[in-house]
Formats: sequence, structure tokens, C-alpha cells
Amino acid sequence: MAVDHSVSLPTLDLLGIGFGPSNLALAIALDEDARATGRRLKTGFIEKKPDFAWHNGMLLQDSRMQISFLKDLVTLRDPCSPFSFLKYLQSQGRLEDFVNLRSFLPTRIEYDGYLRWAASSFGEQIHYGEAVLGVKPRSAGGKVRALEVTSRRADGSETTRIAANLVMAVGGRPSLPAPLAALVERGAPAARRLVHSSGYLPQIDAALSASRAEAQAAGRRVRVAVLGGGQSGAEIFQDLVQRGSLDDDLDVSLVIRGSALKPADDSPFVNEIFNADFTDSIYRRSPEERQRFFDEYRGTNYSVVDVDLLERLYELFYMQKVSAQPRHTLLTQRHLTAATPGRHGLALTFDDLARNVTETSEFDVVVAATGYRRDDHRRLLEGLAPYLGDHAVGRDYRLETREDFLPGIWIQGGCEATHGLSDTLLSILATRSAEICASLHDAYETLAQQRAHAVA
Ligand SMILES: Cc1cc2nc3c(=O)[nH]c(=O)nc-3n(C[C@H](O)[C@H](O)[C@H](O)COP(=O)(O)OP(=O)(O)OC[C@H]3O[C@@H](n4cnc5c(N)ncnc54)[C@H](O)[C@@H]3O)c2cc1C
Repeated sequence: MAVDHSVSLPTLDLLGIGFGPSNLALAIALDEDARATGRRLKTGFIEKKPDFAWHNGMLLQDSRMQISFLKDLVTLRDPCSPFSFLKYLQSQGRLEDFVNLRSFLPTRIEYDGYLRWAASSFGEQIHYGEAVLGVKPRSAGGKVRALEVTSRRADGSETTRIAANLVMAVGGRPSLPAPLAALVERGAPAARRLVHSSGYLPQIDAALSASRAEAQAAGRRVRVAVLGGGQSGAEIFQDLVQRGSLDDDLDVSLVIRGSALKPADDSPFVNEIFNADFTDSIYRRSPEERQRFFDEYRGTNYSVVDVDLLERLYELFYMQKVSAQPRHTLLTQRHLTAATPGRHGLALTFDDLARNVTETSEFDVVVAATGYRRDDHRRLLEGLAPYLGDHAVGRDYRLETREDFLPGIWIQGGCEATHGLSDTLLSILATRSAEICASLHDAYETLAQQRAHAVA
């Protein structure tokens, strides 16, 4: 019988989709494992950005990490790893100076430098500048034995790679409130005045300068609305206020749904929910218990702001009262119900739940710090739908698939509902990557069979 080697001998043993911190941590774990066991998988990663970058739209000057540097890519698994944050500091000649800072929380800019430094060791495995479009099954002998992954470069050219197994770590997709999403979908020119927090630094200067001339001609300042009461909204509000104070040309409104900005809870007892072994206790609960748990601890991560920043913002509003010049505003209990093109920007309509009225205000620029959706892996895996059922994920992060589907697919960052609040964060990268590596070893037997089939 003729054997189709392109099917049975996959080009890659493992293909990672997305190369952010999650798949970077996995690349390190696989490398360490290969050195220890001699079992080196042929691995590749596809990343749509042209180069490694960690949330580069939000690398604001003053922003700090929200977890200890000891929760880096490796330390909780192996404090002696050559990929630790401390090793990075040493390589840059800053170890002692960092110690003198007496801080566990580096700036995000420095942490991005650490991640880039670690990523640079895996250069030849990573295909940067390619966005994965979808995945299709490749069958032989009545079973799916490999996967075809198609990606597109910025110039429109497409490549299809064949892999025996996949690890999806595509992070979040920017989420917009429905009225703003509708404007973008319609391609309304006014949508150019809208910036999502994920693109804040690359886009905000252009958005502001497009409005400055109009505002000056009308004898007023540029009116900016920042939507969202979480950490990103608060950071962007502070950044805009600082920008505006240079030329006295911005009026910034922070618009939130809650009745107050709330503090992030990172107190020690609560922080134990981010310990690696907590994942077991969440995973074995019923869906109802997990939801109850999620609701109880939401305030560790969602719609909350670091206390230091809260205090700075409070002082800012207080100083406006002292000077009797209320320029920047905090608008609470506002629900966005409509967004339409205005004369100079976007007209936003809010239900004001405190006063029980509906109001429309025009803004030259709107920044939506309205979070992310974490279901993009489902969209990319649509071509495998008949084999994946309802996307149930095992404790080892492997998707449960039909029996006639041999490839393994692991999901990083898309399992919050089953694996807990740490799933989308950095806290568990060192341990989760080792768990996936171990699960891959179990799948190694299947891989050996796939290879044997090829030469039979
Ligand atoms: C501003 C900001 C600050 C944060 N700070 C912290 C913090 O201090 N502590 C913490 O624990 N967590 C923090 N987080 C949470 C964040 O999710 C993690 O820090 C981390 O980025 C998760 O890594 P990841 O690799 O799973 O996802 P991501 O970092 O989002 O990486 C996913 C990668 O996949 C790529 N990708 C997506 N789709 C495709 C595709 N179709 N084809 C190819 N590539 C694709 C993306 O370009 C991206 O590089 C922060 C999040 C934000 C937005």
C-alpha cells in the first residue's frame, strides 16, 4: 500500500500557535526536558507580531508588574534555570541595582525586556509575522493523524504547515461594547477616533493630533473619554492627564459602570488562589462551584485597580477641587447604550444609573479599556469542530477529542472556566508548561505510533 508520507510523517511534532509568555514558557520547558531526557521534539511556533512583544500597546512609563518577578517563566519550577528573571538581570549587569530597589515588582517595560531576552534563545523555532487563519484535519487509514495549519503574512502570502500536535496560546482578542463594535463593523469613518487599550501607545498620538486642530479652532480642549474601570482604564486615564498637563489641551473623562473605582485584592491569603496547586482544587469542582468561586474572587483581576494608582487618582481629583478647576472627571454608574458619529468625533449615549437619566456627550477621542475575549482558539479550531465536541479540556490542558482523532491539542490561557483565575495570567506559567510537557510525553507514545505507521 502506498503511504502518503506528507500525512504520516508530519513536518513538526508540535506546533505552537501564538508566541507570548505562555508558549515561550513552554518552549523553555521543552528545551530543558529535552536536555534531561534526550527526547527532543521537532517544534515550531507561529506568531503574528513581527517580533516578540508583550502587550506593547500598554508599556506605559510608570506601569509595574502585578505579580512578583519570582513568578517568572521558570523559577517556581526550577529556581536554578538559566531563564530566570534574576539571570536576565545578571546578564544585563543590573542584578545588584535591582536588589537596591527593594521591590518585587519590576516595571512592565523591564519585564518585556526579560521576555524578549528569553525569547531570543528560540529564534529559529519561531515564525514571526504570520497570523494563523485556521486548522484542518489530515486523515489516513480512517483516522486523523496530523493537522494542517495555514497562516498568512502581511504581504498576503500563505503557508501551510503540517504538525502532529498543537499548543494554542493566542491570548485575548480586544473586546468592545456592542455600540462601539457596531461602528467598527460598519467601517464608519468616526471609528478612527476609537482606540482600544491594546493599541493605546501606537495609536493615541495620531488620534489626538487629528482632533487638536478642530478643538483649537473651536476654542476648546480635546475631549477624551476613557471607558473602563480596570487597571488599564486607570493607567490610560493617568497617562492622558499627564499628556494633557504639558500643553493644557486635554479634558479627560474616565467613564465606569461601577459606583466607584475598586482596589485589586493582592493580599496574601487571597493570593493563594494563584498558587499552582490551587488549579487542582478548582478543576475538580462542579461548574456551579467554580462560578461561585470566580464571582467571589473576581476582584483579584477584573475591573479593579492597584491601590497605589487609586490613591494617585484620588489625589488628582482632590487637587482639582483645591484649585477649583474641575477639568478631568470620573463618571460612575454609566452604561453605554449608543455610539454614533458626532460633528467632531463620537457621540456616546449613557444611561446614568445614579440619576436615572440618559445623556449623550460628544468626545473627540474614545479609548476603550474594555478588556478581552478569550475564545479565539475556538474560532481557529472551527475546521476540527466534528472531532472536538464542546471543547472539554482535561486537567492537563489537553482538549478531549474523538477516538479517531490522534493529534493532541493543548490550550494555554483559554481554560479560566475550568482551571481558575490564574489561567490567563503569568502566575502559573512555570508549572503549567511543565504539566503540558509531561502530558506531551504521555502523547509521545502516540507520536511514536504515528511515525511507525509512516514506515510500515
Ligand atoms: C496590559 C496588560 C498587563 C498585564 N500585566 C500582567 C501582570 O502584571 N501579571 C499577570 O499575571 N498578568 C498580566 N497580564 C495578563 C496577560 O494575559 C499575561 O501577562 C500574558 O500576556 C499571557 O500570555 P499568553 O502568551 O497566554 O498571551 P499573550 O501575551 O496575549 O500572547 C498571545 C500571542 O498570540 C499571538 N496570536 C494571537 N492570535 C494569533 C494568530 N491567529 N496567529 C499567530 N499568533 C497569534 C499574539 O500576537 C500574542 O503574541 C496583563 C495583561 C495586559 C493586557
